[in-house]
Amino acid sequence: MQRTTKKTSDAETSAASTGALNVLSTFDFERARTALLRWFDANGRTFPWRSEPTPYRVWVSEIMLQQTTTQTVEGYFSRFLERFPNATALAEADEATVLKYWEGLGYYRRARSLRAAAVEMVERFGGDVPERFEDVLSLPGVGRYCAGAILSFGFDRRAPILEANTTRLHARLLGLRLETTTAAAQKILWRAAEDWLPLDAEKSRKPNVYRRLNGALTDLGRLVCSPTSPKCDACPLAEFCESWRRDYQDVVPVLKKKAETIPRTDVAFWIERRDLFGDGENGGKRCGGSVCDAGSPTDVLLIRRPENALWAGLWDFPRFEITNEAFRAALDFDADVELCDRLQRFLEEEVGASPLDRRPGVVVYTVKHAATRFKITLRFCRLAGAAPVEKTLFDALESDAAPQPRQNVAKKAKTAKTPPSERVAAEVRWVSLAELDAYPLSSPGRKLARFVLKNGVK
Ligand code: SF4
Repeated sequence: MQRTTKKTSDAETSAASTGALNVLSTFDFERARTALLRWFDANGRTFPWRSEPTPYRVWVSEIMLQQTTTQTVEGYFSRFLERFPNATALAEADEATVLKYWEGLGYYRRARSLRAAAVEMVERFGGDVPERFEDVLSLPGVGRYCAGAILSFGFDRRAPILEANTTRLHARLLGLRLETTTAAAQKILWRAAEDWLPLDAEKSRKPNVYRRLNGALTDLGRLVCSPTSPKCDACPLAEFCESWRRDYQDVVPVLKKKAETIPRTDVAFWIERRDLFGDGENGGKRCGGSVCDAGSPTDVLLIRRPENALWAGLWDFPRFEITNEAFRAALDFDADVELCDRLQRFLEEEVGASPLDRRPGVVVYTVKHAATRFKITLRFCRLAGAAPVEKTLFDALESDAAPQPRQNVAKKAKTAKTPPSERVAAEVRWVSLAELDAYPLSSPGRKLARFVLKNGVK
């Protein structure tokens, strides 16, 4: 079985490093490369970014492939390239448009970095992907692996790469019994990745050699030297492999213990304009007319995810974490005073409504999803409470005699001269049902939107 370990002593680290370096120093790279490339010619995977490996296409694919499977990326790549065929087109697009084309791929920070890097390419490199390692590495969202991948796959440059598949492969070939993320192991693994690539002089005789070798190492790690059941009998490198020789396949690579996942429950709300301001026909005065005129009573409330949050920059339904363990288990919203209070404050401060009697209502839809180390159960609700609300900020503006339910509402009333719909914070927006499709939504948000559009909500 693989293999997380106890802490390794200095002596053990030194012995393991020496052993792996000895294997590396006597490794017959010339014969191994020939065997590997022969295997690659017959078994290598085909991808759109490989069949036409321009630096721009390679760069986009590498950013998309971070934390994401090739199968998933294939569904997005062509569509993205069609809309943003070069760095200039990407740099000129606004962030929301880029996010829309990224929607569903996850890890949205990558999309924003990609666009930011495109802007830098236009400003610093004439709209081209740069060719110097330091320049590529200086771009947003590009780390050491990614820079190597862009240079080797995009330009056929001698640049080593080390990601999950090649880390496992090199560790096994060297019989490296060190936890792979340690500094000592990383040094050896990067050296191995570099030693696999012949020196520049050889490039002139063998075009595409770096592109092919890095592709072959990645594919062999993925297809043959797999995490739990390596197919050593079918491996073209078995005769060079220290793990195969010593029967170490099950104990190498040594992996870092995974952080435990943390369960979490969130509540998100489907809030329509009429839930807060009433229907246009019946609640004209109460909702101020202009509120209703400015949009449909069925417009739904979206909030833009803040920086440093999950799905940063995307739009989502108003959402809160349930922090109280007992309420999380029982989902007794009526009793969850803290959640009700946060919801009220959100409606007052961000939306410009001051409902006195709004709290989480019935759960209409539940989504479970994993994000970083959280395992999230997300409950979507309608609001509960009198409908339409009896007290709104507009009432407070209309009549000095109107009761002021909370202090911050009174504060708003002094400054607010525009209708509530125009007063909402920049990152909160009423959106018509027809517009929902065009908004880049978080993945659970998109699921809710589809669910409601298909089934409706009561
Ligand atoms: S022989 Fe087995 S362990 Fe060694 S590189 Fe090949 S598949 Fe991996």
